Amino acid sequence: MQGLNKTIYMDNASTTALLPEVLDAMMPYLTTEYGNASNIHSLGYEAKLGINRARKQVADLLQCEPEFIYFTSGATESNNWVFQQPSFTSYLISNIEHDSIENICHYYDKFTNKTVCEICVDEHGIINLKTFNEYLEYYFPDLVSIIYANNEIGVIQDIESMAKICKASGIKFHTDATQALGHIPISLKHSSINYLSASAHKIGGPKGVGLLYCNSSIDPLLYGGHQEQGLRGGTYNVAGIVGYGKACEIARMKLLKNKDGELQNKRRYFISKIKDSIEDVQINTPIDSVPNNANISFLGIDGETLMMLLNDSGIICSTGSACNSGTKEASRILEAINVAPEYIHGTLRFSLGYDISIKDIDYVVSQIKFYVDYLRTH
Ligand code: PMP
Repeated sequence: MQGLNKTIYMDNASTTALLPEVLDAMMPYLTTEYGNASNIHSLGYEAKLGINRARKQVADLLQCEPEFIYFTSGATESNNWVFQQPSFTSYLISNIEHDSIENICHYYDKFTNKTVCEICVDEHGIINLKTFNEYLEYYFPDLVSIIYANNEIGVIQDIESMAKICKASGIKFHTDATQALGHIPISLKHSSINYLSASAHKIGGPKGVGLLYCNSSIDPLLYGGHQEQGLRGGTYNVAGIVGYGKACEIARMKLLKNKDGELQNKRRYFISKIKDSIEDVQINTPIDSVPNNANISFLGIDGETLMMLLNDSGIICSTGSACNSGTKEASRILEAINVAPEYIHGTLRFSLGYDISIKDIDYVVSQIKFYVDYLRTH
């Protein structure tokens, strides 16, 4: 058994470690290549080249035109940019959106004339397409926004079908792909999606960088310089953007080498070991989910206590999404899929990294079993 001095990180849905190759790619732009990308002198030109390369690397992962990619500070900003468009006054979202969408909608609903309608997922976390059609017909919103893969339970929606339905009705479609991009193949080549958001730090890139894919007209987010086609002014975060580009290139290679399939096998092994060795557990991650996510409820356990005990054993996981942790409120995502209250509070989210070994998983399961047995008997 491993000693306590090794950390096994299973919170990759919160954030990932910066990949060494990403740091290497960023380093020149943090040191010698410090030019402002808006300047035409040689240092500025080098920085601009770095950004152009990154935009192409990101576009290659998404299989889209580079001019449709806008760099932002993260998915929160990208989501807000789309939602804050003055031309949108009515929205249809799901009931399992990330807080960066849920909370802006809550604000619109409460304090403005904008209206928001929520479509509910079924007990597997899925939006039924027939119900989706009915909502569109009845409500006919300006913007539909559906999360590609949920951050707590990893469930993947049939985004392309929904985008297609919206396109046929002339309704704009946005998806928050923060947990999906780089983990599952996404192609925008023949897509009906108008807007897509993501963040670099979920795939081994730096924090504070994100993207908005936008193939439709959009008003500026930040008035300032001419950066990002005059739509998001402000001096470029060159190193961050270069890092995001590299992370996307690596993610594309991993998908080509079927690393997502390998991760899925490890996740399957983890879940089946948990089910074999611990009684009264419930797996909340549906089959159709991103490969890194294992959301598990332990009957009669306080999730936060279990998380902290595991932390002492060098195992890092979380009680839900990072945005919710620290609150004792029941997860609205788990409520949305009808997880019973006696299970909800004993829920942990394990999000596996590509480099986790079977030995690591065996150790993690043995520690979970030890602490669950202990907490259930004390
Ligand atoms: N959407 C989803 C689905 C996320 O998981 C996150 C990060 N927790 C965000 C949006 C926001 O990303 P960021 O914090 O990088 O802006």
